[in-house]
Amino acid sequence: MDLKLKLPELPGIGFSYSKKLEYLNLFTLEDLIHHYPFRYDDFSAVKPAVNAQIGEKITLQGEIWSIQNIYTRSRKIITKAIFNDGTSPIELTWFNSGWLTKQIQTGDRLQVSGKLTKYKSKLSIMAPSWEKLDGVNISHPGGVHTGRLVPVYPETYGVSSKWLRTKIANLLPEVLDLIKDPLPDEIKKNMLDLPNALQKIHFPENWQEAEKARERLGFDELFYIQLATLKTRMQWQQKQIIDPLTINHELLDQFVKSLPFKLTKAQEKVLGEIISDLQKNVPMNRLLQGEVGSGKTVVAAIVSYLVYLNDFKTLFMSPTEILAFQHFETLKKLLEPYQITVGIYTGSKKNHKGDIIVGTHALLSKKLETDNVGLVIVDEQQRFGVEQRTLLRSRAKVPHFLTMTATPIPRTVALTLYGDLDMSVIDEMPVGRQKVKTYLVPEKKRSDSYKFIEKHVKEGEQVYIITPLIEPSETLISVKAAKQEFEKLKKIFPDFNLDLLHGRMKGKDKEKITADFRSGKTDILVSTSVVEVGMDNPNATIIIIEGAERFGLAQLHQLRGRVGRGTKESYCFLYTSNRQDTSRLKYLETTFDGLKLAELDLKIRGSGEIFGSRQSGRFELKIASLSNTTLIEKTRSSAQKLLKANPTLDKYPLLKAKLQDIASGVMPD
Ligand code: ADP
Ligand code: MG
Repeated sequence: MDLKLKLPELPGIGFSYSKKLEYLNLFTLEDLIHHYPFRYDDFSAVKPAVNAQIGEKITLQGEIWSIQNIYTRSRKIITKAIFNDGTSPIELTWFNSGWLTKQIQTGDRLQVSGKLTKYKSKLSIMAPSWEKLDGVNISHPGGVHTGRLVPVYPETYGVSSKWLRTKIANLLPEVLDLIKDPLPDEIKKNMLDLPNALQKIHFPENWQEAEKARERLGFDELFYIQLATLKTRMQWQQKQIIDPLTINHELLDQFVKSLPFKLTKAQEKVLGEIISDLQKNVPMNRLLQGEVGSGKTVVAAIVSYLVYLNDFKTLFMSPTEILAFQHFETLKKLLEPYQITVGIYTGSKKNHKGDIIVGTHALLSKKLETDNVGLVIVDEQQRFGVEQRTLLRSRAKVPHFLTMTATPIPRTVALTLYGDLDMSVIDEMPVGRQKVKTYLVPEKKRSDSYKFIEKHVKEGEQVYIITPLIEPSETLISVKAAKQEFEKLKKIFPDFNLDLLHGRMKGKDKEKITADFRSGKTDILVSTSVVEVGMDNPNATIIIIEGAERFGLAQLHQLRGRVGRGTKESYCFLYTSNRQDTSRLKYLETTFDGLKLAELDLKIRGSGEIFGSRQSGRFELKIASLSNTTLIEKTRSSAQKLLKANPTLDKYPLLKAKLQDIASGVMPD
């Protein structure tokens, strides 16, 4: 037998079950034995019925005295059996399982497990698990479905835990010998070896064994990710030896001095880190993380300038057209005084002439000439799929690579997921910024908040109203909701200029609407969550977010970051129709630290919240958790040690093969 065997080719599985198993992401024999139980039923107490307590979960051994199907008036089938374990008769009852009378006959010796109850003064067990005592599975003499810690698996339509358990119990003894443990002894230390861990995750003899198995398999999940990202990182560093850029400090200082503000210490620090990358003979590969509004764009502008001084072009990729247009304006303002030309390249605008070209993923187009590109910047990088980022990187030979994100990623998590990148953090806001006063507003106070808006708009301030997100991503339905809300709001604020913005508009329209809002022509911008990323208008002081329950906390924090960018007091009002969710949303009233909010998201809603559906497939964790920092650190240092001692991993062919496996499947980066 071969672990790579496809499921339809396995005896006793066949085509139709294989189809169903695909819903569980199971395709090969190997997948199947790595389908881990998510819990166990503890039926390990094997004892006579008379010694058991009512309510206790037990396993009995005995004989079937009688069994029959009873049909209820509502045409349901109840199967009733009298079973005797030598100490007492016990009634067994199953529902809707009429076929059982074909499988179990009077006189059969069974082992049954379940919760002992008393029904009309008779001892009884409802819906017990059972298996025959004669002809039990040779590899599992104590039982598979009863009499032990019984594994319970993630199921899918038409595939029960019992079915999975049966197959795994049959196949496991045959394949365990084939499994070679890729983990070197010096890392494995006192953890179980792989075959052992697999045996024990499915059929542990006790809770300690189950725990040991989880420890080992959880370790594996994170360890291989760590090893793969660290290896990618090494390859990147070895990849090309390039000419270091020269930094003209005089011009740099002049440029920085000419900015309308003084850089924060944190901006200076990350600029220093980036500059030292540019002076190396390996390309930079850095993730710049900084809270919403912490001023990443200006850092990017300065870096592009330095690259320009070395006669190289910069590509600056944004996730949305709106943002691309905005960056285009910002960069023009900052750079044109220095005779640097800025181009824009999006779906609707294609001007590829420029020392710096700002654009959307349209920049990936083959038509764009990328010969002389020395720097690629990706803004809000989490908005792009892994494939797009990789593609962009490959389009431009070996440029320096700077990705930016406002998503606060807990450090340990970042080290795991982006272990192939260096990280810089802007951990300080420009002076004068104030906390955005945030309130979860009950529906009955809605009209008060509209009055509040009216007052502030009359004083010349501007407002965002974010309409409910209907779908996790922007769809026609979401757009419809935005339009409805827009019509409603126009009636509520007849004296003000309102405008509507959503992601499905034409680029030209978006550009105009964004420009109108930034120039103050529009008082109230009704929008879908497209403004979440990056929109910058310091005169906006109020943001209303409808349907807040549909967002993660970190995402709401980003939305909130649209206001409070100037010197005026700013406000965020959250509305939710989901009363259960209020305690989660209330965190926003008191917490202004994006990282804390991201950590809360991680705890409350899991890692998908931070990384979005696009990237979660890359890191499907069945056992390990991204909030387990101890394990993350342990696996990382193990991977580092190993790579340091043997960078090629040639000493560990099994490990190398394993990594190739991962790379071809889920690690396109
Ligand atoms: P983000 O990091 O979210 O992309 P931006 O780069 O859009 O933030 O910057 C937000 C605002 O802060 C912009 O209006 C920018 O001009 C301003 N800004 C950036 N750095 C500073 C600074 N050091 N002092 C004052 N304002 C700054
Ligand atoms: Mg930004």
